[in-house]
Amino acid sequence: MRYVEQVIDAQAAKEGDGVSIYRSVGSNNLTELDPFLLLDEIKSDEVSDYIGGFPSHPHRGFETVTYMLEGQMQHKDSVGNEGVIGAGDIQWMTAGSGIIHSEMPKQKEGRLWGFQLWVNLPASEKMRAPRYQEINSQRIPEVSFGAQHSVVRVLAGEYIGEQGIKIEGVVKGITTDPLMLDIKIAQGDSLVLDLPKGHAAMAYVYEGSAEMGDDLASTLVYAQQLALFGDGDHANEDDTLIISNKHVASDSSQNMAGVLLMSAMPLNEPIVRAGPFVMNSRQELEQAFEDYRFGRLTQ
Ligand code: FE
Repeated sequence: MRYVEQVIDAQAAKEGDGVSIYRSVGSNNLTELDPFLLLDEIKSDEVSDYIGGFPSHPHRGFETVTYMLEGQMQHKDSVGNEGVIGAGDIQWMTAGSGIIHSEMPKQKEGRLWGFQLWVNLPASEKMRAPRYQEINSQRIPEVSFGAQHSVVRVLAGEYIGEQGIKIEGVVKGITTDPLMLDIKIAQGDSLVLDLPKGHAAMAYVYEGSAEMGDDLASTLVYAQQLALFGDGDHANEDDTLIISNKHVASDSSQNMAGVLLMSAMPLNEPIVRAGPFVMNSRQELEQAFEDYRFGRLTQ
């Protein structure tokens, strides 16, 4: 079994051009959970909280993932990609040696709700060619589970569902072998899944609350909290993780639990980071800043 070892409260912060965010990974509370470097939630109905967006900025040495629940973001990058991502879409960008991009809200009212996740690249791939995977919501597999017809969306990796049915996400070919699931759990249901042994695992609750663990030990995790899972049982090949929505909320509109589950293989390499660059040494980091300053980052 995988049990919750720590619960992190997301911290309100500003990112980009004054965008209000809630940061869990990459905050003072938790600098990283190897290979995850950052996790931000953007959620606001106030246009002033998001309208500034994320104007042109560089990245090198890792991957940035944007997943939207509501609203629309327009993106543009130095590799020539351009488009709009909306509710349910995911964009998995491998910055590699360098990319310069912008992400701007394509709406002047209404709610903007989504996530930004940073996943580290191994030393051998930090200077690889950039790659871009944009997946429209319709292409993302959805599987129902439980008696109350809960739904899991397989964003990345492989999910083994009820009756052992294997569902592969659309995002593929990532060395850290990430699993990313958007789980919407109706009251009374539980999701049971096996994670590869040794993979780091965390679950962010974005709606309602969810119990994580089994009858022996479970932790109730609320919205805007991130649960970090321990290593589990070393005698087994896989470790089981259980996420349930058993908690009876006083407000019936809060009956659904929304959870973003992420796991991946730790890299166990030195992390030297500043701003938009994540490298393995001080020298590589300085090189990234210099390359950006002299217009060589994307060459
Ligand atoms: Fe970015």
